[in-house]
Amino acid sequence: MLSSAVSKLSNTLRGGSHQAGRCLTALNGSVRDYSSGAENDLVVIGSGPGGYVAAIKAAQLGMKTVCVEKNETLGGTCLNVGCIPSKALLNNSHYYHMAKSQDLHKRGIEFSDLKLNLDTMMEQKRNAVKALTGGIAHLFKQNKITHLQGMGSVTGPNEVTVTKSDGSKETVSTKNILIATGSEVTPFPGIEIDEKTIVSSTGALSLEKVPSKLVLIGAGVIGVELGSVWQRLGAEVTCVEFLGHVGGMGIDMEISKNFQRILAKQGIKFKLNTKVTGATKQGENIKVAIEGAKDGKQEELDCDTVLVCIGRRPYTQNLGLDGVGLQVDNKGRIPVNSRFQSTVPSIYAIGDCIAGPMLAHKAEDEGIICVEGMCGGAVHIDYNCVPSVIYTHPEVAWVGKTEEQLKEEGVEYKVGKFPLVANSRAKCNNDTDGLVKILGEKTTDRLLGAHIIGSVAGELINEAALAMEYGASCEDIARVCHAHPTVAEAFREANLQAYFGKSINFG
Ligand SMILES: Cc1cc2nc3c(=O)[nH]c(=O)nc-3n(C[C@H](O)[C@H](O)[C@H](O)COP(=O)(O)OP(=O)(O)OC[C@H]3O[C@@H](n4cnc5c(N)ncnc54)[C@H](O)[C@@H]3O)c2cc1C
Repeated sequence: MLSSAVSKLSNTLRGGSHQAGRCLTALNGSVRDYSSGAENDLVVIGSGPGGYVAAIKAAQLGMKTVCVEKNETLGGTCLNVGCIPSKALLNNSHYYHMAKSQDLHKRGIEFSDLKLNLDTMMEQKRNAVKALTGGIAHLFKQNKITHLQGMGSVTGPNEVTVTKSDGSKETVSTKNILIATGSEVTPFPGIEIDEKTIVSSTGALSLEKVPSKLVLIGAGVIGVELGSVWQRLGAEVTCVEFLGHVGGMGIDMEISKNFQRILAKQGIKFKLNTKVTGATKQGENIKVAIEGAKDGKQEELDCDTVLVCIGRRPYTQNLGLDGVGLQVDNKGRIPVNSRFQSTVPSIYAIGDCIAGPMLAHKAEDEGIICVEGMCGGAVHIDYNCVPSVIYTHPEVAWVGKTEEQLKEEGVEYKVGKFPLVANSRAKCNNDTDGLVKILGEKTTDRLLGAHIIGSVAGELINEAALAMEYGASCEDIARVCHAHPTVAEAFREANLQAYFGKSINFG
């Protein structure tokens, strides 16, 4: 399914005409003229992982492409205030924590006078962001994409108006418009975010000092990642979560329980089934009022920093959608069909501003296939094969169905598990927290879901996603030769357990 569309596309591209984007060679080999009346073939609004990837793909397919971005730098939430800066801090805070928690001493690496230089840590994060956002600017030039800096709004089915920082306006006519305006932090009613002591994820990526006590509102993916960063750097972190589990929606409950236990062992305190009802500043101190969601028990938590992480909402305001008759849904998302086309046929939307998981790789994939679809290509994405990763240590990653979903859907399944404590590489690395849990279809043995806690779960999950895309059985995976010693062998062993009932190295 994947392979045929992609190889067809690259074959077409190799032989395709690429003349200044005025016409393009479509997937089916026919040549389309996109020039009819419009200055451009495509205007993309937003340069996050959805928008910038779509713009590059469009240009590669020969479309004359413009990308409008309101921020000074390209790359959207992901590169500027999301995936990239958070992973830089997660990585470096993990090293610091290894040193501080005597982990390195236990490995024979002894030193004294350990110091945290937060400025340098932040500088490394900034350098990573700068290099990657600058890289997109370079790719835009290389692919002859016109980059317009300013606020884009849709002023007609084939027209985008860009308001620049000096107030001037530029109107661009285009055959198609792709809205990739992403999302923004969901505010907490009654708690004002100042990005200094009451911060959103954005402020939490740039705190000037390590909080002494941090109250984290929300134990979803972003919350536990950023909570981990500051806990490792020395903050006392208490996480208040309305739901009864950590890791957000879509996580397998057995994995969530294991994950919470590991985070608690690391020092994060959890108050689950608990809602925050307010936060009041008193000098340097902040009092956070909480209430049991089930028993109504009220309590107050003292802290110097509050991190509000209750989710993100689509960023679709001030885009001029009303003017072209486009309605958003009750969550502010732009409704689209299976080709990512809105109710206005020339206007498409992808990424965080439409339904589905708010993930960078989901936005990227949608961007690519949406643009291919404009060129006559097949448009298909299997959301069941989109992996999720929490980049704590150990990482948590999953793809496909959870046990709870399979039960709800009445699917008969079998489970294969392998603990990392029995994996040779994890043992060599003295990094044995975690397990691989495999869910296979009972009669056909088809892989239905993979759930992993482990130091490299975020890398391993791609093997599971590949297997799921190709409809592999647990036996297929168990019969693939895996390099030794690797943590990936635990994935193989869990599949072996699922299909054969026994793994080799455990049980
Ligand atoms: C702290 C944090 C960590 C995260 N970590 C991960 C992770 O590890 N992995 C993962 O997959 N996802 C992660 N995410 C989520 C990920 O960042 C988003 O899912 C992803 O960025 C969505 O991509 P997008 O292209 O849809 O939108 P965005 O990245 O939000 O980009 C939208 C762009 O559009 C621009 N824009 C908006 N309106 C206009 C307009 N009218 N005119 C011009 N420009 C406009 C915005 O300025 C922005 O640059 C994280 C998010 C956060 C906040």
